[in-house]
Amino acid sequence: MRNDLCEACKRNEINVVEKSDDPNQPYKLCNQCHERLLKYSLRPIEWYNLAVVHSPKKFLLHDDLYEEDGEACQPEEDVFVTKKDKAPTLRAVRNDLESLLDFSITRWFLEDDVINALKKHNTQKTLSSVKSRFYETENYEVKSRMLEIVADVLGTSASGWVRELWENYDEEFLYPISWATASSLPAEEGLNNII
Ligand SMILES: [Zn+2]
Repeated sequence: MRNDLCEACKRNEINVVEKSDDPNQPYKLCNQCHERLLKYSLRPIEWYNLAVVHSPKKFLLHDDLYEEDGEACQPEEDVFVTKKDKAPTLRAVRNDLESLLDFSITRWFLEDDVINALKKHNTQKTLSSVKSRFYETENYEVKSRMLEIVADVLGTSASGWVRELWENYDEEFLYPISWATASSLPAEEGLNNII
């Protein structure tokens, strides 16, 4: 993936760094996508690509403005959607681990259909990708979603990593680490950490 392309369309060069939603993790966009972002008029694939990086819980991407398939609900300009502008569906991504993990980040909740699709993948590969995604981002929602996957998909096979997390944890992740702990560590050890 090239870093100098617009995060939304992944085709044009970056012209604008938009900090209004999160000064620590601004959107990096071309002029056209920037305008569509501010007018709540992103195309589904553009919304999806941004949600993979920033989560769908940011103000400009959240669920009052876009459906789960990325369709704009309150666009301030007409949105023209051709076939190539549609966001991926679970069916389209389920057999590819990285695409499926991307998809999981774009969901408001980690639902059973995504959990079951993730469970079909190799556990060690999933753990390794979940870990690197956790450390590569500063985004709280994305990090939390990775810990939810530990809790709901990986369970005890992630116990080594969950122990590491307790050795050096950040207080804002106490809750998500606790979910992961409940399913990954023996009850007594987990409880001692949480207390
Ligand atoms: Zn763009």
